[in-house]
Amino acid sequence: MRTHQLVMQWIEDQLSGGQLAVGGRLPAERSLAEQLGVSRTSVREAIRILEAMGVVRAGVGSGPEAGTVVISDPTAALGSALRLHVATQHLPVSDVVETRVLLESWAAARAKPDAPELLHASELLDDMDSAGPGVDEFLALDVRFHIALADAAGNAVVSAMMGSLREAIQGYAAKLTANLPDWDATAARLRSEHREILEAIRNGDGGRAAELVAAHIEGYYKESGLGRGHG
Ligand SMILES: [Zn+2]
Repeated sequence: MRTHQLVMQWIEDQLSGGQLAVGGRLPAERSLAEQLGVSRTSVREAIRILEAMGVVRAGVGSGPEAGTVVISDPTAALGSALRLHVATQHLPVSDVVETRVLLESWAAARAKPDAPELLHASELLDDMDSAGPGVDEFLALDVRFHIALADAAGNAVVSAMMGSLREAIQGYAAKLTANLPDWDATAARLRSEHREILEAIRNGDGGRAAELVAAHIEGYYKESGLGRGHG
């Protein structure tokens, strides 16, 4: 095991053992290095990696607010890792689409009709109605709408997975627009499908909401000509 991995292992043990929790602070670099018998460079490397993983926020300066704080941002690392692996073609877009259908239809079926996240989802739909013709802005709001719906199911792991897929979804959706015969027509259809999905959840019809969201996700993919013969 390399020395920075020793430091990471120590921090992980402290987290699982409950000695360290979100909001807590790591010992100062020097004392951690002495305690574990490793160099300060190794401590710094471990902290840089954990920072990229969304587990700590490295401190700056000195004083009571300095020091490295434990945070919990599971989407930070997963999101950029997933986007990069989609870019390397190791995560095919068709598999991202299937995963969305799996997560989002599950979430739509379980979302509570009075979940506060649905208010946010509704605001995002209004924003999409008043958005300009820009495709990027539309797709950014679109993915945020889907994340809000998934959040309404109240499962922290599903929410983290959806949040992690955000960049991958926005990336493939933007690429596929080039294959669409008429973006304006597609955008109008997507907008009305969003309203129907939200309406079904609000009416307590989770089964219908799940079917609608699956058809919505697959429909866009198929319309772009890439989904044929798949699913
Ligand atoms: Zn959508």
